[in-house]
Amino acid sequence: MSGLRCGAIEVLRVKETLGAAFPPTHLLPDLPADAIERHLGWLAPNHFDPAKKRFVMGTHSWLLRTKHHTILVDTCIGNHKPRPHSPGFNNLEQPFLERLATAGVTPDQVDFVLCTHLHVDHIGWNTQLRDGRWVPTFPNAKVICSVAELASAEEKAKVNVEDDDHLAQWQDSILPVLEAGLLQAVEGVHSLEDGLTIEPTPGHTPGHVVLRAESAGERMLFAGDLCHHPIQVYYPDVNSRFCEDATAARATRRRILALCAETGAVFAPAHWGAPHAGRIEAIAANFGIRWA
Ligand SMILES: [Zn+2]
Repeated sequence: MSGLRCGAIEVLRVKETLGAAFPPTHLLPDLPADAIERHLGWLAPNHFDPAKKRFVMGTHSWLLRTKHHTILVDTCIGNHKPRPHSPGFNNLEQPFLERLATAGVTPDQVDFVLCTHLHVDHIGWNTQLRDGRWVPTFPNAKVICSVAELASAEEKAKVNVEDDDHLAQWQDSILPVLEAGLLQAVEGVHSLEDGLTIEPTPGHTPGHVVLRAESAGERMLFAGDLCHHPIQVYYPDVNSRFCEDATAARATRRRILALCAETGAVFAPAHWGAPHAGRIEAIAANFGIRWA
């Protein structure tokens, strides 16, 4: 578990998974052919496994503790969830809640859960299986997403295509929270508390949001899936295969990377290998990383 601090806000990464994942061109179909070789010096071994020729990536939550609240950003894949169309996510069993306990947090102490978007690997621990039923994992937490994202996830579940898990995700990870009255859909810029602001960043999904944190002159930005892999910082026009609106995803990525470069905010996304977050530097027309 790696610890960071943003002024008075304590920030911890709670790991769910980490390891060799996608081959680069599978995740990033438009990545230039020489990109891995050019950046191998810093990519291996934490972000690229040269033997397996795969990106090293993971799923984790960012845990924020302020004077007033305990907040989880994104809730990973979850345990025991049938995901036949995402083999790496299917019926997972990971000691995520035990790791949260190691950080000193029990589920009933979480005040807010922010889902940057409602893709399968960001909503899993919203619920857990108890006595054969999916129940909210964090009974006292408001689970926050954007209005646009909730509408999009509901629409995808209705379409119920046979080769995806959208309906299952809706039923086991969103609906139980909605029915328990714990889901709060927000619109536009939304203040969570002083210094913590949710901001729309559409593109990867229609209602993707980020969380901006500012305390005692320090800044962090919890970026969800704006950059699945750190190499995208150097190639900000390269989308992942999971980005739903290619043009908006590129524009938003550039806007937020430029904002982080300008303000010195530590960029903390959902899937990067160690050290999992970094500062963004403007380099000519693109960007680079100084690791946090
Ligand atoms: Zn993701």
